Amino acid sequence: MRSLKENDVLVIPCSGIGKVHGLIGREATYRVTDELAPERTATLCLALLVKGDAEAVQAVRSHSCITIDGCAKACAQKNVAMAGGRVSKAFQAAEAFRNYRGAKPGSATALTDEGWVITRDIAESVACEAARLSAESEAVQ
Ligand code: SF4
Repeated sequence: MRSLKENDVLVIPCSGIGKVHGLIGREATYRVTDELAPERTATLCLALLVKGDAEAVQAVRSHSCITIDGCAKACAQKNVAMAGGRVSKAFQAAEAFRNYRGAKPGSATALTDEGWVITRDIAESVACEAARLSAESEAVQ
């Protein structure tokens, strides 16, 4: 992970293990931070935030955050908020499934082609939101 810049938008997935939803959230995050918007986004490990790491807490308090959770338990969104962070937009992989009824997205460890379609869909929405937040933040400087 590159170092965090002042205007970066943080994209933070939940740590959902054992479910395809968690894998989709993580893969969507990497697609945004590595491919779609590497110049304006970064990510951080949710576990650091949960254990109160000072640098991670400071990062979510000083940057706009987009969370990507696997399900409605919204662990990433809730933990960013509990750390005093600004959740500008919260996504849930399970919600995205509503647009793909009957899709077979894969397993906790591997996505099918349909799973990748859902992942790209989420990633594109996240990248659009990050662009909007970046533009807003540049406009107030
Ligand atoms: S949001 Fe859902 S999938 Fe993600 S860590 Fe929490 S319970 Fe697991």
